[in-house]
Amino acid sequence: MAKIVILGGSFGGITSAFELKRLLGGKADITLLCDMDKFVFIPSLPWISFGWRRPEDITLSLDSILRPKGIKFIHEEAVGVDADSSKVMTKTQEIHYDYLVIATGPALAFSAVPGLGPEGGHTECIFTLDQAIRTKKAWDRFLENPGPIVVGSVQGVSCFGPVYEYACELDTELRRKKIRHKVPITFVTSEPYIGHFGIGGLKYSRRMMEDEFASRDINVIANQAVEEFTPDEVKLKDETKLPFKLAMFAPPMAGVKAVFHLGNPKGFIPVDSNYRHKDYKNIFSVGVAMAIPPNDTPIPTGVPKTGYMTEEMAKYAALSIAAEIEGRPPVKTEPVGAICIMDMGNTAALMKARPVLPPRQEAVMKSSIAFKWMKQGFEKYYLWKIKRGLTQLP
Ligand SMILES: Cc1cc2nc3c(=O)[nH]c(=O)nc-3n(C[C@H](O)[C@H](O)[C@H](O)COP(=O)(O)OP(=O)(O)OC[C@H]3O[C@@H](n4cnc5c(N)ncnc54)[C@H](O)[C@@H]3O)c2cc1C
Repeated sequence: MAKIVILGGSFGGITSAFELKRLLGGKADITLLCDMDKFVFIPSLPWISFGWRRPEDITLSLDSILRPKGIKFIHEEAVGVDADSSKVMTKTQEIHYDYLVIATGPALAFSAVPGLGPEGGHTECIFTLDQAIRTKKAWDRFLENPGPIVVGSVQGVSCFGPVYEYACELDTELRRKKIRHKVPITFVTSEPYIGHFGIGGLKYSRRMMEDEFASRDINVIANQAVEEFTPDEVKLKDETKLPFKLAMFAPPMAGVKAVFHLGNPKGFIPVDSNYRHKDYKNIFSVGVAMAIPPNDTPIPTGVPKTGYMTEEMAKYAALSIAAEIEGRPPVKTEPVGAICIMDMGNTAALMKARPVLPPRQEAVMKSSIAFKWMKQGFEKYYLWKIKRGLTQLP
């Protein structure tokens, strides 16, 4: 029986695990290894940071969703992979695999800019559950003594969407609390223009986001790099200084330590169109862990790997592994697309791009309160679906 090991228990890892089990049934022994014991619905993390959700609303125990499907769960961190002898190492054991799926997501590279990040730096972040909980505490302290807020993405960032969400949610929440007039908001980004999103823009996204931020009175500084953060100021490369009482910034990403040696200089895993490692044929990688070339923008930016893209990659990787185990020809893949709903506090925008980068077959960018309701409904539906291992559903 083929032994398949999956690293990571988020969108990429669980989709790979459920799809492989569905395709192969008893023909494969599937183990998922994750350093966290929970699946976290990451798109709702900005809502945690305003108290609109509690951690228990958006998390599921990995063991309780995987074990009923006959997938083994090991709650341990992979500390290394020996690709030549097909072994994953943890602190307590070595696990042999016939196939490995790397879905370990990113390491957040806060060291890229002095003073960036919640640990040892001066900015908040909402990219992990712990960070979002911390940002909620910072928000509560801020409300006692409000002042300027700076929100943004430093040079090298690829995941821009949540920062737009945070800026609009912030504006909405401050207006609900009737203190918006006490809080100047500045949005700083390494994108060449707002609405670029790391994907070269989407239809009229530039005009749309410029209008949106103008109507919300959010000051925008685009095409900028950050020199450093001090406890109460952001210093930009052009020497502009922006004082803040609260700053929330996205960091650049890199590959995680355990698999860094299998990747490009940033530690992201180079794969072919079937998500198979370019050198190690029994290793696949999906989601944020895999490599996509960066954008050619004046200030460095990367291309985001969204949840939907990650799931499409995981499904292709699972189909490819299953085809090989069952002796069928390799599956033919298409470039993945992206669909997501960007929350904007009191409204939301639907974004659809296929393929992700232009020129595109299909591009949609529309805002409406109906998309806000869809986003809220999707969260519940997705958790329902994952609890039952139904990754084949849309
Ligand atoms: C705040 C925020 C909001 C977002 N909103 C949206 C949205 O609305 N729509 C959308 O489509 N996308 C959204 N995204 C993007 C989406 O969350 C990512 O595309 C998705 O999480 C990628 O999944 P992944 O499995 O590749 O990596 P991750 O979700 O990062 O998961 C990696 C997993 O690997 C585990 N892991 C890491 N290292 C190890 C190790 N050494 N050993 C074992 N396990 C390890 C981690 O604990 C984690 O379980 C958002 C991202 C953020 C940060």
